[in-house]
Order: sequence, then structure tokens, then C-alpha cells
Amino acid sequence: MRILKPINSLSGVGSKLLSYFDKMLPNIRVIDLLFHLPINVVNRHLTEDISNIPDNSVITAKVDILKYNPPYNRKSPFSIISQSKFYKISLDFFHANKDYLAQNFPIGSSRVVSGKYRLYNGKIHITHPDHVFKPEEFKNFIEPIYPLTKGITNKILTKVILQSLELVENIDEWQDELFLKKQNFLSFKQSIISIHKPSSEKDFRDDSQYIRRLAYDEFFAMQIALQLIRKKNGNISGNIISTDTMSIDAFVKNLPFKLTGSQNKVIEEILHDQSLPKRMTRLIQGDVGCGKTIVAAIAMLNAVKSGYQVALMAPTSILAKQHFESLRPYFDALNISVTLFTGDIKGRKRKDIVSKISDNQIQVVIGTHALFYDTINFHNLGLVVIDEQHRFGVKQRVKLVEKGYQCDFLLMSATPIPRTLTLTMYGDMDSSIIDEKPEGRKPVDTRVISLNKFQDIVQAIKRALDNNEKIYWVCPLVNESDMSDLSAVKERYDEFQKIFGSDIIAIVHGQMPQEEKDEALIQFYNGKKRLLLATTVIEVGVNVPDATIMIIEHANKFGLAQLHQLRGRVGRGNKQGVCLLLYNNEISATSLERLKVMHDTNDGFVIAEKDLQIRGGGEVMGVRQSGIPNFKIANLKEHYDLLKTSSADAKLLLNNDPDLVSKRGMAVRFLLKIFDYEEKLISG
Ligand code: ADP
Ligand code: MG
Repeated sequence: MRILKPINSLSGVGSKLLSYFDKMLPNIRVIDLLFHLPINVVNRHLTEDISNIPDNSVITAKVDILKYNPPYNRKSPFSIISQSKFYKISLDFFHANKDYLAQNFPIGSSRVVSGKYRLYNGKIHITHPDHVFKPEEFKNFIEPIYPLTKGITNKILTKVILQSLELVENIDEWQDELFLKKQNFLSFKQSIISIHKPSSEKDFRDDSQYIRRLAYDEFFAMQIALQLIRKKNGNISGNIISTDTMSIDAFVKNLPFKLTGSQNKVIEEILHDQSLPKRMTRLIQGDVGCGKTIVAAIAMLNAVKSGYQVALMAPTSILAKQHFESLRPYFDALNISVTLFTGDIKGRKRKDIVSKISDNQIQVVIGTHALFYDTINFHNLGLVVIDEQHRFGVKQRVKLVEKGYQCDFLLMSATPIPRTLTLTMYGDMDSSIIDEKPEGRKPVDTRVISLNKFQDIVQAIKRALDNNEKIYWVCPLVNESDMSDLSAVKERYDEFQKIFGSDIIAIVHGQMPQEEKDEALIQFYNGKKRLLLATTVIEVGVNVPDATIMIIEHANKFGLAQLHQLRGRVGRGNKQGVCLLLYNNEISATSLERLKVMHDTNDGFVIAEKDLQIRGGGEVMGVRQSGIPNFKIANLKEHYDLLKTSSADAKLLLNNDPDLVSKRGMAVRFLLKIFDYEEKLISG
């Protein structure tokens, strides 16, 4: 199918343009281009009368070309004086190529020109008209305006998209016809066309029937994918791991604390899963600091005691090291051999570990996600624990299924998602929630403060540093490649070095090599540095229990879920944590209101719910981090009603046609490809 092909299959998309598109979205296919939605429209209908159109608006006029006024100095434009029905219009071109203009605007000819007009000295000017047509080639139209990235103009994009629209074939319908009627939905093809050839901006708003149709398709595809994963996993018979009460009791007795009721409840659920002759796929959700690691450790212990090897995977090598350091003593005490396996273990040592793993001399392997991609032959892998699983989207879960790991899975997510969403987002797994914090934890004292108080904040930091405390200062980086944001962080860093002295500050950001990042974090962890200036790279999985202060600059640029995640980095020990959310004065009243939610509650689930209500999970930041999939079209807030229906509908279809072989089933296979879910999900 042509819409699934890469866009260089389109004519006029050469390697240069492709490289720009690639920056917008890597490996972009024709269909992905069609999912690039307009954000605005410009009306290019012939303007009858400009007298009531305000200055600086777009007009479209048929004009006769009268004469040329060449520039009178280097800074002045080349002007083409033209006559419309009522007014003279000067078409102005800076740095113009005269021959080119003479060719396109011959004196005595007529043209339709469209662009923003300005009035100076009582005369109408259009500088660099957006469009110029020969009158016979012009038809009134509405021009969609797209979000652009460097190297791609709206004209180029429109042209490529119009070409792509021609490739949308009449595909077999994958939705239920009655449902489509009831919802007033058009076909997939018609909906896409209506969005890119809009008659007004209403056509691509979230509540447009065309967008809703596509959003439904997207939800439906996701639900089918989730349910196929679940079925695949559920059908797989698994290890029976009976509960080794004695070892577990010994382990628990060794802990320096008492497990919370919530931890105990979740442990029960896991032990029960393990004892069944079927594969476990369970998600543990719980706020930062609620103690998920120890729960996972007990599951690991239990599997090891049944003769299995286990692997724990963390998203970063630092976090893997931390898990290793904190769990090793417990396993050592029970004579269980445990090893760390990350990218920076190399050469002979690496070989040695790999061979010990395949010889079953090592029972517990703690490492990064790279464990998946490395060719380690476990002797008898029985359980994989994935920490911070929200880094892992549905698509990665599909990959796991493909890899065909024959073992239990325990996934942990530190980002609570709204309870209402759990079922639909994690429909492919069982889920447990730890909703209780260990005793004695004090909520982080959160304050929302204007950057105007910068001097006071500096004083407070000074006092805290004198008091031997550890402080995070986080700056937003909307886009890792956005140099202006990055330079703001670096400026702050220079400024702080002057204020606090350079030997106390470390910096981490995404553009640094991994080793340097690790080094900075380790220095902060060790206390060599006590003020860590960071972009959001620190958000996942840094555990510095004695850090007490989290300062977030331009906090309004973050999602609430993300702020909560960041805030969770402090107050992990027994010292009171403090979180300052800084805003500058351009902040809107609603944004300020939103930040106050952080002050009002420490409950991650409440915050996640609010975040969803406010942002629909679909905004610039915090999408990946929030654990909510990054949809191409759908918006959780606006299309929530459709999500629920799609889940039920997917179930119904798969009940009737589990292998997707009916006519509708075959069409659904194509839908899965459109939304980029791997084909291998489907058995057969
Ligand atoms: P998270 O759920 O964010 O992964 P961790 O598992 O890292 O949290 O636990 C955070 C800290 O709390 C660790 O230092 C851990 O040892 C400690 N902890 C875990 N459970 C309890 C408990 N029941 N009582 C006291 N401290 C606990
Ligand atoms: Mg954790």
C-alpha cells in the first residue's frame, strides 16, 4: 500500500527535503505526513472590498501589472505597481531578482496575488505575496496552515500533502458500518481529505467529525494491539513458582523497615501470579518513593528459590547501579549471586559475566534495557522486572512479545496514571497499585514563587548549602535540540558558579556524553557537588536520598505529572523535602492555577487526573514521561468517550475473529499498520 511507504516515494521529495522531514519525524511515511494536521487556515477567496478588512490581513486580488519601480537603495524593495478593481497595490520584493520578477509579472498582464497587506502613506502594499496565479489558473480556496520545522515551508508541505492525498486508496472499511452511521463518521479516506482540504478551521478541530473518526481509528488500533498482546501473553503457559515462605520471611526480617500494608497486598498478588501455570504480566503502579523495588526484589527472590534466573532492568545505567548497590546486600545475605550488567562493563569482564550467566552461576542480573538487545543466553530465565516502565510504550511491549521471552514479567511505573485510564492504557496486563507511602514520610513542602524573588531564592540556596544540603535546580528543555533553551541552562550555570563557587555545582543535560552525565550525577550523589543544575534528563530514576530541595524554573512549562515526578526526587530520606516552583511574570492565570494544584496535593493519582483534564496528555512535554501514549491524532481529554467504546469494540471483534481473518479482520490488519503497530502481533 502506497501510504505506508516512506515519503521519498513522492515526487519532488529529494534527499535534502527528506532530511528536513526526518528532523520533524524520523522515518516518516506518507501516512504520517497525512497525520500532520493543519493548525489554521487562510482564506484565499477573492477579496471583493478591502475597505472593511483591517490592515495587516490577507487579501487576494486580481490586478493588472502597470509598471516597475526599481529600488532606490540597497535596503529598499523592488516594487511592482499594479491596479486592482478599486485600488492601486504595490507588490514589494526585497533583494529581488529583477529578471525573475519581469518574467512572472510582465507589464500589461493580469495576475491574482494573495498576501498580507499593509497601508503606508495611504498606499496599499503587499510584501512578497504568498501566492501569485495567472487569472485562468486561480480558483477561490482555503489554504491550510501547518506547523512547520526548519527547511519546510507551508507551500512545500501543502504540495507534498496534496500529493499524498492522491495515494489514499479506497480501503476496505475496518469499522463497523452501523457505528459509523450512528457517529456520523465518513470513510477514513474522506475524513483525511476533508482535514487537508478544509472549508474552515472547524474541520480539523478536535471536535470535528473527521478528526474524531481518525481518533477513533487510532484508539481502536491501540486497543486491538493491547488485546492481542494480552492474548499472546495469556495463552503462554508459564512457570509454576510456588511460594517459598521461609526465604521470603527471612528476607523481610532482614529489612531495616516494616513493609506497608499496600506493599504486602501487592506482594500477595504477585506471589499468586507466580504460582499459576501461566505467564505473569503484571504492572505495579505507585508513586515515587512508595517502595516498589523491594516488592520486586521479593518476587525475584521467590523465582530464584524455584531455580530460576531473574533480570531487573532500569532505564539508565545509573539507576541500574543504584538498584544493584541497594539490593546486593539482601541477596548476599541469602547466598544468591547477583551481578551488574551495563554498557560500561566491557572486555573480559563482560565476557566473564555473560558466560557465568549462561552457566547458571549467576542468579540475579541487574542492568539496563540494553539487556534486551544483548545476546545473553540465560540458562533459565524465569522473571524479568522492568523498572520505570512508563518509558516503555505499547510499541516496545509489542517488541517484547516478538522477542518471545518465555518468562514472567513484572513492570513498574513510578508515574501514576489516572485510575480511569489504567484499564485502557494497560489493557494488556494485570495491574497492582501501591497507594500508601512508608510511615513517617512527610509530604514535600511545595511553594509557587515568582522569579522576581530571584535574590531571595539565591539567599535561601546559600543558607541551604551552608547547611550541607543537596539541591536540584531544573530548567525546562522543550526540545533536546533547542539550542536557545540549552544556552539558558548554561547561562544559569555560569551565573551560579559566580554566586556559589564552581566547586559546588554540577551540570547535566541531554547533549552531554553519557559518561559526563554519569560523572556529574555520581558527584552529586557522593556529595562532592551539592547543587545540581539539570535539564529534565534527571527526571527518571535518580535516587539521591539526601537531596532535600528541588527548584524548578519555568515550572509552568512542565506537565503536572512531570512536576510531580521531579518533586518525588526530594524528601526521600527522613529530612523534610522542599520544592520551589518558579514562574516568570508572563504566566497566565490558568497556568498559575495549575501550579497551585502541586501545592495542594502530593497524591500522584490526583495529579495525573488533573493533568489529563487540563492537558489531555497531548502537549509538548511530559507526554512520554507521563506514561500516556503519544497519539498521532487522538487527544485523550477530548476523545475520551471514544476510547471506552473502542475498547469494547475491539474486544467484540477479537471474540468473533481472533485471528483477524474475516473481511473486517483483514482491514483491521491494515489499520494496525497505519498506526505503526507491528504485524507480528497477529498470529498465523
Ligand atoms: P520507588 O517506588 O520510587 O521505586 P523505592 O523502591 O526506591 O521507591 O523506595 C524508596 C525508598 O524507600 C528506598 O530507600 C527504600 O528502601 C525505602 N522503603 C521501601 N519500603 C519501605 C517501607 N515499607 N518503609 C520504609 N522505607 C521503605
Ligand atoms: Mg523505583
